[in-house]
Amino acid sequence: MFNKRVKIKELLSTEPQGQEVTVMGWVRTFRNNQFIALNDGSTNNNLQVVATLGMLNDETQKRITTGASLKVTGNVVASLGKGQKLDLNATSIEILGDCDAAEYPMQQKKHSLEFLREKAHLRFRTNTFGSIFRVRHSLAFAVHKFFNEKDFLYLHTPVITASDAEGAGEMFRVTTLPFDNPPRNEDGTINFKEDFFGKSTNLTVSGQLEGELAATALSDIYTFGPTFRAENSNTTRHLAEFWMIEPEMAFYDIEDNMNLAEEFIKYIIRHAMDNNREDLEFLAQRLAEEEKQLPQDKRSDLGLIEKLEFVLNNAFERITYTEAVNILLESPAYKKKKFQYEVSWGVDLQSEHERYLVEKHFKKPVIVTGYPAAIKAFYMRMNDDGKTVAAMDILAPGIGEIVGGSQREERLDKLVQRMEQMHIPVEEMSWYLDTRRYGTVPHAGFGLGFERMVLFVTGMTNIRDVIPFARTPKTCEF
Ligand code: ATP
Ligand code: MN
Repeated sequence: MFNKRVKIKELLSTEPQGQEVTVMGWVRTFRNNQFIALNDGSTNNNLQVVATLGMLNDETQKRITTGASLKVTGNVVASLGKGQKLDLNATSIEILGDCDAAEYPMQQKKHSLEFLREKAHLRFRTNTFGSIFRVRHSLAFAVHKFFNEKDFLYLHTPVITASDAEGAGEMFRVTTLPFDNPPRNEDGTINFKEDFFGKSTNLTVSGQLEGELAATALSDIYTFGPTFRAENSNTTRHLAEFWMIEPEMAFYDIEDNMNLAEEFIKYIIRHAMDNNREDLEFLAQRLAEEEKQLPQDKRSDLGLIEKLEFVLNNAFERITYTEAVNILLESPAYKKKKFQYEVSWGVDLQSEHERYLVEKHFKKPVIVTGYPAAIKAFYMRMNDDGKTVAAMDILAPGIGEIVGGSQREERLDKLVQRMEQMHIPVEEMSWYLDTRRYGTVPHAGFGLGFERMVLFVTGMTNIRDVIPFARTPKTCEF
């Protein structure tokens, strides 16, 4: 057996008693021909490997370069140096893979995040990205843990869909038709009957509609999968391929929905705080250093850890869309014409407005409910005023919208009426309407953009840095 090794994170938490262990990892630095800082990605903390003088021949010594991979066996002893509790006194060092120092792009110096985006295949080897992806993992694990503890079923909704009624954004087509000469109907339109599925299909923008089918029988479900939007918005908060968590609950109204969303967000943040403290502290320091470059008024009031603690310890603010519009209209920013986009009842809130509400006005996450029906999706439940729907968006400091959700319209007649008004093909959506025809129930759900959550918890500012390989307009590398 080759791999009988201990991971560095585990080793660093044991007591040095001279015990013999084997570790494997990549060289971060090699000093004085004697001290190797070895990292295996289990933690940002390197293991100090000490090569006793004379144990390495000249040739081996030259091959221990930044990025080279090693298998080291030795004894764990208390460290004489400061900065670490223990050393590994090597009895054998085997080079598993060489790394040409002249060519290797990931030398031990500070690289810009832009540079690392271009080298995304190697950026896992940096402390910053090590921390980000360990936190990302931890948050994903917490998502499943939270819902499992609440007896929700994890539902796998399809990635390829024929339903384009959600209207959440531009869709990516899925086809096997030849793009240079597709079969056509007599009127010149493309004949999708000859396509793989015999109809036009797309990548999903949301699993919600399928989620509703399951929730209206199984009570509580959630999805956690990739979603695709061909929206041409080159922002720091949009990806063309992102992961979304979409719980859907029977017998929930909008208030139950808000309570669940708030509890869920706090739960996964707490999980990361409890399990990824070191990584979060590293990221907090990274953020503080990055913010030193900014003018005073652009810096955050709270450090990353304090921000997360604040969110955990305070109730989210809950306001209606109408109240939000009034706050914006009364704001100094509006009066000084600082907003680029229009503010008036009936117009959707733009990111600048959302960020004003959470960052300047309330200084905490805000749940906005009761949006005008005209700017929201057809399935949202009409309120008694006949003008607004039981929608809820959760806005987070530094991010803007992190959750979009609603109580769903469970009344068949109202739903059909709304679909007709919005030119949604009622016939084609008959399968969806069956949930309202046969034992309809009040139900609700929401979608949380996973990368926006990872952004919030890691304090990173560009969504491209919290997904392993970002897909954005004109970029699809690796
Ligand atoms: P936005 O206004 O920010 O584009 P949206 O209104 O299109 O968001 P929804 O359709 O409600 O968002 O999607 C639910 C959640 O999915 C959002 O709250 C957000 O967290 C996330 N989300 C939406 N679009 C993207 C995207 N392109 N990249 C990453 N996350 C996204
Ligand atoms: Mn959008």
